[in-house]
Amino acid sequence: MRVTCPNCGSKAVITSRENVADNVSELYCSCSNTKECGATFVASLAFKHYLNPPRGDVARLAAGVLKNLPKPMQIDLLKE
Ligand SMILES: [Zn+2]
Repeated sequence: MRVTCPNCGSKAVITSRENVADNVSELYCSCSNTKECGATFVASLAFKHYLNPPRGDVARLAAGVLKNLPKPMQIDLLKE
C-alpha cells in the first residue's frame, strides 16, 4: 500500500498504525522528502465493502436459503 504526502506528493512511510474501530485504522505517516517537506500526518484506512464475499459466507447463505425450501426443491437443486 502506498501513501503519498498531502503536502508535496512524495512517498510517505507508515510509521505506526492504531485501530480506532472495527475495520478502521489510523496510519501515522512520515513524508520521505525530508529535505524539502518532512511533514508527518495521519491518514485513515477503512474497510468499505467486499467485491467477492468470503467463501464461508457464500456457503452459509446458500445453506440458509436451501433449508427454507421444500424438500423436493432442495433435492432437485442438489442434483444439478
Ligand atoms: Zn511531503
